[in-house]
Amino acid sequence: MFDDLHLDHILLTPGPTPIHPRAQRALMRGMLGHMDPEVFALNREIQADLRVMYGTRPDDFTAVLAGTGSLGMEAGFANLVEQGDEILVCANGSFGRRMAEMAARYGARVRLVTAPLGEAIRPEDVAAHLDGVQMVAVVHGETSTGVLNPVPQIAELVRGSGALLTVDAVTTAGMEPFHMDEWGVDYAYTGAQKCLSAPPGLAPVAISERAFARYSARRTPTPLWYCDFEGLQDYWTRHTYHHTVPVNLHFAFHAALQAALEEGMEARVRRVQEVGAAILAALAPLGFSHYVRRPQDRLPTVLALRLPQGFDDAGVRLALRQREISVTGGLGPTAGMIWRLGLMGEAARPAPYRALMYALEGILGESRLVARFDEALEGVLA
Ligand SMILES: *Cc1c(COP(=O)(O)O)cnc(C)c1O
Repeated sequence: MFDDLHLDHILLTPGPTPIHPRAQRALMRGMLGHMDPEVFALNREIQADLRVMYGTRPDDFTAVLAGTGSLGMEAGFANLVEQGDEILVCANGSFGRRMAEMAARYGARVRLVTAPLGEAIRPEDVAAHLDGVQMVAVVHGETSTGVLNPVPQIAELVRGSGALLTVDAVTTAGMEPFHMDEWGVDYAYTGAQKCLSAPPGLAPVAISERAFARYSARRTPTPLWYCDFEGLQDYWTRHTYHHTVPVNLHFAFHAALQAALEEGMEARVRRVQEVGAAILAALAPLGFSHYVRRPQDRLPTVLALRLPQGFDDAGVRLALRQREISVTGGLGPTAGMIWRLGLMGEAARPAPYRALMYALEGILGESRLVARFDEALEGVLA
């Protein structure tokens, strides 16, 4: 019976990530009403902690939306785009293209800046298309390819232009440096189930004063009533009813976010890097190599590895799944060519990846994977 609970299932996917034990426990808490004073107090703590995580100004608005990361993405375009606006979208993977599609649905004229698959957006390409643009949108860490886009450099260009900057921080905020105010980001969002290892169903967002000013100047109300910025403020700031927030998810999210802040960003960055290096040290002798060619383009939290020649991608991943280990392959053009190993939140720990190495030894008939993995970890720890 307990087997069916999948308590020992090992999630190495680029989202969702394993739920943090403190978040798991918080899910057990009894139900409270969404208008309960205790819930409002908890919400205030979530808002304060999110300001720290995103690096906002002290008074900037933060909240969690009742939906996944994609709702965070959609809410930004719904509130900040109007019919006929010129929006520049950096699209070098499937999440960048999702942004472009959403912006278009809210009436934007979309200018695409692209890059070859597996490469970062070039800031000079953004600079060349900035003229007359009302917003620039970019995915910080493109999960579909394991590419890190140069957000600080892009932000510097955008700052002088008067355009707003929307950043998808789903694979970075909470795990990698993110400095909303310092960089000049106006709207940022993530998903609870990625870098924070909370259950899916919440999208933490941060909104700058400039973004609110743009929202206030709208000619028509946003077509997305559910996430109207004003409606969010009704509940989160003025404590009046807007819609019933998923209180139990707030409990779990609060616990996971506090755990992340207590650990500290430096320690989190370090374990991503250490576990990532150990994975590569273990697998490189088998012929695995970085998919993203330029080191500065590599997203630390999604390790994209090119598979060895003749590697049975589907067969090996099925054998892993039978051993309760989930690994994600490529998407679209990279299907069968790469693995995307998640190093977000609780996935970026030695134990789950040591389990992967042990399982691969059995499946592939190899012998030194665990040893190489451990030696690499000891090397960095020594
Ligand atoms: C996962 C992801 C999303 C979408 O989040 P959902 O929670 O699946 O809706 C958006 N952007 C990036 C970069 C992601 O990795």
